[in-house]
Amino acid sequence: MTVLALAEHRRGNIRPVSYETVTAGRGLADALDTELHLAVIGGEVSEFAEDLNRDGVDTIHAVAAGEEFNHDIYTQVIESLATDLDPRVVLMPNSVNGLDYAPAVASRLSLPLITDVVGFDAGDTMTAIREMYGSKVETTIEIDADRFCVTIRPNEWPAAEGAGDAEIEEPDVEVDESRVGSTVTGFEEVGGGDVDISDADVLVSVGRGIEEEENIELIEELADALGATLSSSRPIVDAGWLPKNRQVGQSGKVVTPDIYLAIGISGAVQHVAGMKGADTIVAINTDPNAPIFDLADYGIVDDLFEVVPELTAQFS
Ligand SMILES: Cc1cc2nc3c(=O)[nH]c(=O)nc-3n(C[C@H](O)[C@H](O)[C@H](O)COP(=O)(O)OP(=O)(O)OC[C@H]3O[C@@H](n4cnc5c(N)ncnc54)[C@H](O)[C@@H]3O)c2cc1C
Repeated sequence: MTVLALAEHRRGNIRPVSYETVTAGRGLADALDTELHLAVIGGEVSEFAEDLNRDGVDTIHAVAAGEEFNHDIYTQVIESLATDLDPRVVLMPNSVNGLDYAPAVASRLSLPLITDVVGFDAGDTMTAIREMYGSKVETTIEIDADRFCVTIRPNEWPAAEGAGDAEIEEPDVEVDESRVGSTVTGFEEVGGGDVDISDADVLVSVGRGIEEEENIELIEELADALGATLSSSRPIVDAGWLPKNRQVGQSGKVVTPDIYLAIGISGAVQHVAGMKGADTIVAINTDPNAPIFDLADYGIVDDLFEVVPELTAQFS
């Protein structure tokens, strides 16, 4: 019995959530007094395995199978590994890819699946914590099963660091091509280039308080002066003023920068769900009762059209 965690890669790079699955998986393996096995499937698996060899991993299964993520291949490979390893837990990222294959894996293994978990508690019975209704409600799920599948929410566990001494295996897993019904034919970046706001250390985020598209320039100037990345609330994206990859929140990206500057953003739960993990939150808003001030470390109750140019001048 082991914990089997899944790593993720895209276009030749390991995705950060992979190191978080190592941390979460190690925690579960310790609680269950078992080993942590990590699987990476497809792409440059030998290189990936070196990169993933972090402290806490006992064995890495580097399975050469295609180049990029493929639902049918992943499902077959994980099913095969799980049949050999008989894992107590199959731990997958709650990412776009993870959510694609996790239900199929759980179905093939006839195991229950708990999605979007933000914590575990291994008391007398194992429980998983999930957040619901845009993080307004926290639920504790008692896992009434000896073996289960789970997806974990990105940015909830710290990334595993430190070199490990895992055993690296490169098993031959036979893929039944007749069961592979889809092929990745290429990638198309969404508008806004390859900016990934979830990687930014400092985010300057703009909301509906900006009023007009042409006023966004004001916020861009501040972001430039701070060496920060520009992000936004959803209405700005819905209006077509910024591309989708800049949206923070429940239906956008989850971000964890060192500093998050929220300008003219009210702090709706769906927005907060994406940025509450920021180290330091600064809010500028004319409304002293705006919910964003409930979680801001520093608040400026004032007109952004007065404050922002002043800040830009100070930091330029
Ligand atoms: C299923 C679902 C998913 C959603 N997903 C997301 C998501 O991922 N991300 C997201 O952001 N939202 C999301 N939303 C929308 C969310 O509910 C809010 O509507 C949205 O976050 C509000 O954006 P805002 O704060 O920019 O605008 P508003 O709520 O309109 O707030 C604007 C703020 O600007 C302030 N303001 C106005 N003028 C000034 C000024 N001159 N100076 C300073 N402050 C000023 C106002 O006091 C106000 O607080 C989702 C909603 C649903 C139903």
